[in-house]
Amino acid sequence: MDCPDCGNDRTRVIDTGTSTDGMSVRRRRECQRCSFRFTTYERPEWNSLQVKKRDGRIESFSREKLRAGVERAVEKRQVTEKAVTDVVDTIESELQDHETCIVPSRLIGELASEKLRDLDQVAYIRFVSVYKAFSEPEEFLRELDAVLDAELDDFGRSTPQNLSDNL
Ligand SMILES: [Zn+2]
Repeated sequence: MDCPDCGNDRTRVIDTGTSTDGMSVRRRRECQRCSFRFTTYERPEWNSLQVKKRDGRIESFSREKLRAGVERAVEKRQVTEKAVTDVVDTIESELQDHETCIVPSRLIGELASEKLRDLDQVAYIRFVSVYKAFSEPEEFLRELDAVLDAELDDFGRSTPQNLSDNL
């Protein structure tokens, strides 16, 4: 980092800290020739979609991971390979349209449950049970009730017993 004052390329770091938003590293530098002091900010360059996890960690979006989650939910259901690809494609493009490069993992979970709900009710419940069960058990049970009620209304022949056999 060249000195902004005299152009000397030898500067030393005299203090390092984190910026207030927590997203960059702030370095106080001093030119070794003219002793001019200045501050630099270093931030990661997000050139691809990043996911912020519940615990605050940030990792690159993985299409494979999303696909694996969807596939697990639709296992042994009447859902085609193409339908799975469509769900993954739609979610990915909705995430790309998001105004920031960092999306919360919760958003991916919500988008996936939304698509699965339209695709297959059992897959939907399986998915929601995996991604919501630990943090929001009550909400999960409410959703389960709602789906079971809907199945009974839509297809009089279904019973809660044989639906849970499928889970
Ligand atoms: Zn200087």
